[in-house]
Amino acid sequence: MISVELASRLKYFPPYLFASIDKMKQKAIESGIDVIDLSIGDPDIPTPHHIVNAMKKAVENPAHHRYPSYEGMRSYREAVARWYKKRFHVKLDPDTEVLSLIGSKEGIGHIPLAFVNPGDTVLVPSPGYPVYSAGTLFAGGKSYLMPLKEENNFLPDFTIIPHRVLANAKMIFINYPNNPTSVVASQKFYEELITIALRNNIIVCHDASYSEIFYDNKRPVSFMQIPGAKNVGIEFHSLSKTYNMTGWRIGFAVGNREVIAGLGKIKTNLDSGIFQAIQEASIVALDTGDDILSKIRKTYQMRRDALYNGLKKLGMHLIKPKATFYLWVKVPSNFDSMSFVKYILDRAGVLATPGNGFGEAGEGYVRFALTASVGRIKEAVERIQGIL
Ligand SMILES: *Cc1c(COP(=O)(O)O)cnc(C)c1O
Repeated sequence: MISVELASRLKYFPPYLFASIDKMKQKAIESGIDVIDLSIGDPDIPTPHHIVNAMKKAVENPAHHRYPSYEGMRSYREAVARWYKKRFHVKLDPDTEVLSLIGSKEGIGHIPLAFVNPGDTVLVPSPGYPVYSAGTLFAGGKSYLMPLKEENNFLPDFTIIPHRVLANAKMIFINYPNNPTSVVASQKFYEELITIALRNNIIVCHDASYSEIFYDNKRPVSFMQIPGAKNVGIEFHSLSKTYNMTGWRIGFAVGNREVIAGLGKIKTNLDSGIFQAIQEASIVALDTGDDILSKIRKTYQMRRDALYNGLKKLGMHLIKPKATFYLWVKVPSNFDSMSFVKYILDRAGVLATPGNGFGEAGEGYVRFALTASVGRIKEAVERIQGIL
């Protein structure tokens, strides 16, 4: 038997908190608890029929059975450009400013390999999607955590970042509408971001996965709409949350052509693109009319209202989400993130995600996902009411 030893980049990886949550859930189910799982950031609503039907047809075409192109089919990149034009009034060159991704997670995880040298600094929000710091670590970079605090509307405060850190930073990850805090960013915030990036020569990577899951008909802006955005960075997007296609694994990056080319160079050496049938179906997805999307948004809005109003009535402290399918809720004063998650799972059979799983600055909060029916959400609130 050989002795199998993990590379140090994996050995020193922070422990994956969500794995222990999974174990807790399994244990609760085994002990007979009917668990209402509000911990998963994965839509429970199926992919719309017209997209599934397009996939069925595309699968039959032998032309799609061969290796796809690295950067994505031209027709897919054109559909992305068309979507940006229609949705954000942003013009993109499908040849140089659009790149297909095997889900946006893939692009986010890989991009530091293109631009970050060992020891370089990457600015990362905390709490935040864990892949920003994981990708940074794999490239040998160091994450500098930017706390997202409620008193600053969960936006990073650039003025408290030391000049030395900004001067050494290669890249910054930003994500609005934000997972896990559910807030959106204003045009003014993005303008400030562009100023900081230009002054310090930092590549901006904006994660816009949730731009289409918004409430009260208030459409979030795209970073790419802000004048000068293309000079400093790119935007990541995904079909996962918009069209309930998390299992399909398709997304895209758009923006600065040199940054797109750098990421493309990493990808040509690591993967061979996305199954063309999926790209064909995704073209149909991107051309989906607003009626289908507003129906999906209406479903989330009813769930949001049920959970927000319910938890508010229980006296819990939370902000009303403007977008995303998450609620970021402060835990009662005698708990921390983990103890509250355990408490409501054991006593009420409701599963939430502990906020510190998204970084230390998430301590003191839990995240509820709106990926269950209004009925189940109301039941969850009732059960929590019984134990508070
Ligand atoms: C879900 C999610 C992604 C990844 O989505 P893909 O399925 O990989 O496209 C990226 N960023 C955030 C913040 C997410 O929540």
